[in-house]
Amino acid sequence: MTIEKVGVVGAGQMGNGIAHVSALAGYTVMMTDISQDALDSAIALIDKNMTRQVSKGAISEDEKAAALARIACTTTLTDLGPCDLIIEAATERETVKQAIFDELLPHIHENTILASNTSSISITRLASRTDRPEKFIGFHFMNPVPIMQLVELIRGIATDDATFNACQEVVDRLGKTSATSEDFPAFIVNRILMPMINEAVYALYEGVGNVSSIDTSMKLGANHPMGPLELADFIGLDTCLAIMNVLHDGLADTKYRPCPLLTKYVEAGWLGRKTKRGFYDYRGETPVPTR
Ligand code: NAD
Repeated sequence: MTIEKVGVVGAGQMGNGIAHVSALAGYTVMMTDISQDALDSAIALIDKNMTRQVSKGAISEDEKAAALARIACTTTLTDLGPCDLIIEAATERETVKQAIFDELLPHIHENTILASNTSSISITRLASRTDRPEKFIGFHFMNPVPIMQLVELIRGIATDDATFNACQEVVDRLGKTSATSEDFPAFIVNRILMPMINEAVYALYEGVGNVSSIDTSMKLGANHPMGPLELADFIGLDTCLAIMNVLHDGLADTKYRPCPLLTKYVEAGWLGRKTKRGFYDYRGETPVPTR
């Protein structure tokens, strides 16, 4: 299986990054979204992020121009028909993802590989509803995509070796490193990271420490580049809660119960950086702890 054309579904935080790194690696990219505004913003952001790479000497002006020229956008999902690999990075809702694959299926080649960037939804279940579970895989990039080195490759129960190997080659060509995960709730990174973040929220909830002491402890005491509460704000507290619920529901173990304080922040709409308030308040010059 030779992959030259990559389709990206969803032009949000993750989709624009996936288009960015794929185009720089020489792939022809077709990016789609239901929103033209999302596509316009994605292209503007890719341009801005590549300009930063040029100013740091990571890429040349010519490489930037060539990569941008390799990215095309469309609001018509079925324009992705000729792609060899389609990476779905749309909103994290199973019904949304399923509808996308349903609509794509009649328009793609028999060899096209389908992939999902989902953080938590079962790859096996998504794959089982398509006509090609053996050519379906989890292709899980980390945020921000151009900066983070890891891609988790998640095999569904039916994913075949040819599909896995073709995707491994794509990861190599992107200059990234893969880790293979079996298809169990939240895969590897979030299976380990989210309970740690949830535990930090429990420590805050129970008054073991305040926001500053918890983050300082983990930065200076465990050598983490960001404290767990700062990191939770960066990821989005709604996303953290959703992943804890996937772990709790999928593994049926009370050790994964989401902290009530995390639920309360989400109910308040304090979702972290994206809403300017979470465990820190970002409305001023410097972030101020909210507890
Ligand atoms: P986002 O909300 O920034 O972007 C999602 C985009 O999908 C939006 O632009 C939306 O308009 C578009 N969309 C919705 N329905 C669509 C459809 N039917 N067809 C085409 N486009 C559609 O979300 P995101 O943070 O980029 O997350 C996307 C996926 O990546 C999710 O599955 C998420 O779990 C996963 N993920 C996110 C992160 C993260 O840190 N944000 C990390 C790894 C994986």
